[in-house]
Amino acid sequence: MILIIKHCPTCDRSSDKVRFIGEFCEVCTAEKLSKRTPGKAKIIHCRRCGRVKGPAGYQNSSNELLETVLAKEICNSKCKVRIEKISEDSALLKITAPAGDDSVTFEKGIELKMEHQICQDCYRKSSGYYEAMVQLRGDKERVAKMEQKIIKFVTMRNGFISKTEEIDNGLDIYISDRLMTKNFFYLNRLVPKASFTLYGVKDGKKVYRHTYYLNLDE
Ligand SMILES: [Zn+2]
Ligand SMILES: [Zn+2]
Repeated sequence: MILIIKHCPTCDRSSDKVRFIGEFCEVCTAEKLSKRTPGKAKIIHCRRCGRVKGPAGYQNSSNELLETVLAKEICNSKCKVRIEKISEDSALLKITAPAGDDSVTFEKGIELKMEHQICQDCYRKSSGYYEAMVQLRGDKERVAKMEQKIIKFVTMRNGFISKTEEIDNGLDIYISDRLMTKNFFYLNRLVPKASFTLYGVKDGKKVYRHTYYLNLDE
């Protein structure tokens, strides 16, 4: 068997010393790909809650999430990115990119641009968004206890209370999520009186705001 030793047209390295990808050595291939890789990337995060915008919406920041976001930014998810170092305005990445039938890995320092937006949850919170209103009526202490129970239930599930209004014989609680509210009653074996009003149309579907009336003295 005859071994044909290739020489890289760019740097003259030989194929018995380094791996070749096609006509060029892997060092030159990596250099070429590195030059083609954008030196800047954008990361969007919410200025209120600090979460990062990823492929599945806003999520708590993690290296894994940032690596996914950066891979999308710099190579349209066709390469693998590992973060070696990261700061507010720059990152050192280890990038593995396809080359021929193979792949090469190289390091690259990039500039980061942090874009601050407001995520939908934070926007809704600040604009008083709600899908359900719970009217608690009756003994003050019972109402207060039930209020605490509801708040705990909703916040544990990433929902939020838009506002609470004290009225003569009770409390009105405005809650971000209708299904969550419904589940609260169901899981606590409570049967409130339910009614709903048409609120608007979203994505071609009618959106209702639900009102639940619960008399704790009964
Ligand atoms: Zn070379
Ligand atoms: Zn937010």
